[in-house]
Amino acid sequence: MTPIKMVDLKGQYEKIKNEIDDSILQVVESTSFINGPKVKEFQTALEHYLDVKNVIPCANGTDALQVSLMALGLKPGDEVITTPFTFIATAEVIGLLGLTCKFVDVEWESFNLDVSQLEKTISGKTKAIIPVHLFGQSCNIEEIMRIAKKYSLYVIEDTCQAIGAEYLYKTGEKKKLGTIGDIGCTSFFPSKNLGCFGDGGAIFTNDAELARKLRGICNHGMFTQYYHELLGVNSRLDSIQAAILNVKLKYLDEYNATRQKAAEFYNNMFENYPNIEIPVNSPFSTHVFHQYTLKLKNVERQKLVEKMKNSEIPVMVYYPVPLHLQEAFKYLGYQKGNFPVAEKLCESVISLPIHTELTEEQQKYIGEQLIKELVN
Ligand SMILES: *Cc1c(COP(=O)(O)O)cnc(C)c1O
Repeated sequence: MTPIKMVDLKGQYEKIKNEIDDSILQVVESTSFINGPKVKEFQTALEHYLDVKNVIPCANGTDALQVSLMALGLKPGDEVITTPFTFIATAEVIGLLGLTCKFVDVEWESFNLDVSQLEKTISGKTKAIIPVHLFGQSCNIEEIMRIAKKYSLYVIEDTCQAIGAEYLYKTGEKKKLGTIGDIGCTSFFPSKNLGCFGDGGAIFTNDAELARKLRGICNHGMFTQYYHELLGVNSRLDSIQAAILNVKLKYLDEYNATRQKAAEFYNNMFENYPNIEIPVNSPFSTHVFHQYTLKLKNVERQKLVEKMKNSEIPVMVYYPVPLHLQEAFKYLGYQKGNFPVAEKLCESVISLPIHTELTEEQQKYIGEQLIKELVN
């Protein structure tokens, strides 16, 4: 059995090496390193794939979120709502722009924003919500959109972990995540479901005026060369990364299907153990399993992590500390007990390897070792 990795980027590359190498070489030969034809080609391909009017490629997922908030013209003191159970970037950009971050707890089952607690957090200063589609599964975006409309709030979807997943409406209609809110953001960090070979990101919107502004802000607030309407940033997807993404986008659905199959394999192994809770698949989401995350009950997690590592199985804890208890967010004044579900999740979760190259043999070994450790 080949060694198990949390993510196997090498194995994935080997399968499409010729296509990728050709595409990169075309950029090198053309020397169009910044905003070359490959970037435009990828932008168009992604617009088509997502069925969204505008894709604005940028340098990374964090920038995508920051530029989105900048484009909404918010002022210091304005409040933006998100969850404390996500990667820090989601909330970090709120603080960096001088906006006030307000957290809403998550649901135990889905790890996502608990919409039943959203309205009580909305104040006269609230301007936007950044819901996260964590681990590859849609949050209850339909309900979030309804509440946002009621209070005239912007919605920026953090789709960094869920590219390719769809929201399934009761009417049978489907929409790709990231295209439902006013703006959607994603990351092409190498280990994401659609990853490049460095940093990369993109912003999506169906609103033409927002698109113009987002594009300008990514390019120093410049709409006509050397005339700057606004203060912006330098945030571009470079041509070599676009060349790689152009190739990999064609395989995204296949990659996501492989992840779903791997999740099902794990689910079947773990469904009957009382101290493991398998991920719940919401009826309104085509979960794309960026992570396969279990909840442990009455298990000493640190000991388990060490035992798994001793069996050459990498496992991860996403995330060990909720954002409201992070040192960097101390100034917000939150305390332990404010978001009990997020806090309990941080103590209970464990993520197993899930990626496009995982074999059934490896999964069987991972599952058997985990069960053995839990029964002992
Ligand atoms: C990865 C990630 C980001 C940040 O993306 P980068 O490209 O690393 O800047 C933001 N939010 C979530 C939920 C992420 O998983």
